[in-house]
Amino acid sequence: MSTTIENKIESSDHDDLAEKVQTARYKSKNWFIRMLGSSFSGENMFIAMHFIPLAGFFTEVTATAWVLCAVLYFVRMFFITAGYHRYFAHRAFRLNRFWQFMFAFGAQTSGQKGVLWWSGHHREHHKYSDKLEDPHSLKQYGFYESHIGWIFNPKHKRVPVEKIKDFAKYPEIRFLSKHDWIAPWSLGVLSFLIAGWGGLWICFFLSTIITYHSTFTINSLTHKWGKKRYQTGDESRNSWVLALTTLGEGWHNNHHFYQHSARQGWFWYEIDITYMILKAMSWVGIVKDLRDVPAKFKFAHRPEKLRELGIEVAPERTNTNQLGSKNLKSKSTGSKSEKRRKNTLRNHEEMIA
Ligand SMILES: [Zn+2]
Ligand SMILES: [Zn+2]
Repeated sequence: MSTTIENKIESSDHDDLAEKVQTARYKSKNWFIRMLGSSFSGENMFIAMHFIPLAGFFTEVTATAWVLCAVLYFVRMFFITAGYHRYFAHRAFRLNRFWQFMFAFGAQTSGQKGVLWWSGHHREHHKYSDKLEDPHSLKQYGFYESHIGWIFNPKHKRVPVEKIKDFAKYPEIRFLSKHDWIAPWSLGVLSFLIAGWGGLWICFFLSTIITYHSTFTINSLTHKWGKKRYQTGDESRNSWVLALTTLGEGWHNNHHFYQHSARQGWFWYEIDITYMILKAMSWVGIVKDLRDVPAKFKFAHRPEKLRELGIEVAPERTNTNQLGSKNLKSKSTGSKSEKRRKNTLRNHEEMIA
């Protein structure tokens, strides 16, 4: 990837004063000072935004506004999970250039920064899951940082373009990512035109705030709540509650175990609404080559099933198939296991790059 693209993206992403203030704030060990350290930091503006929907008490809020609030939550969650996450971060299916742009635009209406920033950082999360380099590890940095704080940390401000070169090569995607205000502002204006001031406060701001926190629970709570079916070497869990609220993202342990699958609920009882919609989109030709999970990964926790399917269960395969094997921590497995894990991770990165 040319450095021109990297420069183009980075040059759009600097605000020296704000960065200095934020950096100073991060140096403080006191969480209260860290939170209130700068009155006009992006973080405090973000917190202030949570009070905007209260304006609904002083204006008329129509039934249409409430219905649209729910619709906008649902639609935007879909674009985040299907677009930002499964398509741009993991390439779990194919889209043509038009639909690729539409998925990026739809996801950016959520106001969660640009598509290249979001998906690039997500690839970092998988690469270093629950290690110090993981931008939002609950295990390393606690709930607040993993849920919200990391977004405002100057360390994570830049677009990690080297992680997302495969999409940074498209000029229209770079344009959208650079001008990440266009999509949310367009939706805000549209909400106002459809449902008046109540539409702005409730359909736009309230649904945006709920979408923020619902998305953020995947970074924070899915590494704490739920069950670990597969040994992934990190704290990722499966939570049916979070799977329902996030349209399928709660099957996070499955996802960490095999990241390329467009489907995150791997069994019939694991409801994955995003996958259902993607499947329907594949019937009309919008989405192509939906990747499913191979049986050797799906049943990796059930060796008897693997044998029944005629899949050989090699003793070492349990480790090599586990991206970020837990055995890394085990002294008994030694450097051989470490080498295997690194190879597996390298292979995985090659697949997504
Ligand atoms: Zn992921
Ligand atoms: Zn995770």
